[in-house]
Amino acid sequence: MLTESMEDYLEIIYRLSESKGYVKAVDIAEYLSVQASSVTRMIQKLDEAGFVKYEKYRNISLTPIGKRYGCFLVWRDNVLKQFFRTLDAGAGVDEQVEGIEHYITPHTMSLISGLLNYFKAHPERLEELRATRNDSDYPLCEDLGRLRAWEFRHNRDDA
Ligand code: MN
Repeated sequence: MLTESMEDYLEIIYRLSESKGYVKAVDIAEYLSVQASSVTRMIQKLDEAGFVKYEKYRNISLTPIGKRYGCFLVWRDNVLKQFFRTLDAGAGVDEQVEGIEHYITPHTMSLISGLLNYFKAHPERLEELRATRNDSDYPLCEDLGRLRAWEFRHNRDDA
């Protein structure tokens, strides 16, 4: 089974292979802000699990199953971010998605994707939803300042 970290690596490997056509450990290290040695260790794990092919001093390539999973992981990330933004989640969308993406089933993902498509086809329904929203609900959360998510909402510039 893939760990959260393996999923994150596989996602970035897929992104890099799609955008640049090749994947180097140094690019992954830069993208994830981690040491090259951590990247090497993780790439070896993914190789053993059959998701990538790795030979020292060579580019990293995805196996067919690695491609299939990578494609799903990128899609999952994009759909969840779009979903949160459609809900006007505000600050911390990327951080929230980074965590929850690993605990959501493909079935639930397809339901969320369906909802997004519905709102795309019927933008007036999304406007109706927004009009019914009560912004005064939010300050009720003031007592929950010790939650991790509080950081995402309040200590960032992109709020
Ligand atoms: Mn993640």
